Amino acid sequence: MSTFEVKAYPELWQSLDMDVERVTKACQMLGQVYEQSFLSQQNRPEGMAYFDEMIAELHGERIKELLAAKAEGRPVVGTFCVYIPEELVLAAGGICIGLCGGSQGSIPDAEKTLPRNICPMVKSAYGFKAGRICSYFQVADFLYGETTCDAKKKTWELLDRLIPTHVMEIPQCKRPHSIALWQEEVQAFKTKMEETTGKAMTEENLAQAIQVMNNKRRALQRLNTLRHHTPSPISGKDSLLIEQIAFYDDPLRFTQQLNTLCDELDQRVQNQVSVQSQQAARVMLAGAPMALPNWKIHNLVEGAGAVIVNEESCVGTRYFKDLIDESVTGMDKMLTALTDRYKEIDCSCFTPNNERIDQVIKEFHDSKAQGIIHYSLQFCHTYNIEEVRIREACEQEGIPYLSLESDYSLEDMGQLQTRIEAFLEQLND
Ligand code: SF4
Ligand code: SF4
Repeated sequence: MSTFEVKAYPELWQSLDMDVERVTKACQMLGQVYEQSFLSQQNRPEGMAYFDEMIAELHGERIKELLAAKAEGRPVVGTFCVYIPEELVLAAGGICIGLCGGSQGSIPDAEKTLPRNICPMVKSAYGFKAGRICSYFQVADFLYGETTCDAKKKTWELLDRLIPTHVMEIPQCKRPHSIALWQEEVQAFKTKMEETTGKAMTEENLAQAIQVMNNKRRALQRLNTLRHHTPSPISGKDSLLIEQIAFYDDPLRFTQQLNTLCDELDQRVQNQVSVQSQQAARVMLAGAPMALPNWKIHNLVEGAGAVIVNEESCVGTRYFKDLIDESVTGMDKMLTALTDRYKEIDCSCFTPNNERIDQVIKEFHDSKAQGIIHYSLQFCHTYNIEEVRIREACEQEGIPYLSLESDYSLEDMGQLQTRIEAFLEQLND
């Protein structure tokens, strides 16, 4: 019998116009999956208790916090991409929530409207709103999408019918005139936030927000560096979970809790304590982001006895590897420093994107991994095509490499498991 629960809040959900029956069932299922995937691990760090609680209260306490913030006039902004500058939402007194979808459960809702053959992350996110089964979509005042890929930018037009959805134009190249356009878009985003709150953003507000976000990214960097020890003091799936929670938790509390966990992990490194066996094969993942609750590849890889020691993705290093220069003053220069940081993000939607190829190889060496698994979501053209160059770079460097393409269904689990086990055998030889 399941002992872990994602707690139900039917009255709260009713007040948010949600489909209470479906959310209740979805929470029960999530609780069971969570218990099997996470709580069954032996020797987990004690500091994971906080993150377990964040999942237990996924549609409860955190939602109440967001509602309390809204009652104080603080806007809640939903986003789908790490290119949207969270610092500007924070500086305006708002709260930024990452809303990418990682669940198969919301896809049938999306497929009533959207074509079936598009990326599951886009369908899952749209389906959460269409089916009224995600409390974060119900609480958000408005959404901010972007033009990173075709599936997303055309979906925003339809999502806008269900909830106000604005779009930031992210260029596809990083030429000077493309960056100039992007800077204008960042300025327009700032103006939108100021109009929403009715208050001008001050340099002080922005400096403070930059510091909050830099500290959060520093804590995530610290976690990632700790994983690079052999043996890793924490499992890959717990690390992924923390990275996913980073997108909806309060940033100050999250940073504090993560640093407390990292203090414990420091001790575990000294004492050589790990979750997996000390001889576990070390694997790095590269590719598309894994939105909550997409734990599919981590479950398979770690279920086969290996440990994932790094995620080169937008829930992983692409989200936290770069910081904004905190020494800059003056609003215009601060906004330029902000854009400078964001343009370092090497998403596959950019061309050319040589930086990412180099970054993958760098992270492989930094993480002391023994092999790379590249992960693409089905129907994602940019990651699927860029995979060719990652594979070539791995061949050139002699890095054991496996490319996987998947969706959120369980249909390909057997096939994935066979391929992953064969790959891990190669690493263990
Ligand atoms: S993969 Fe690209 S589009 Fe997706 S969140 Fe990352 S930067 Fe945005
Ligand atoms: S994974 Fe690919 S197709 Fe899906 S949202 Fe990201 S860039 Fe678009």
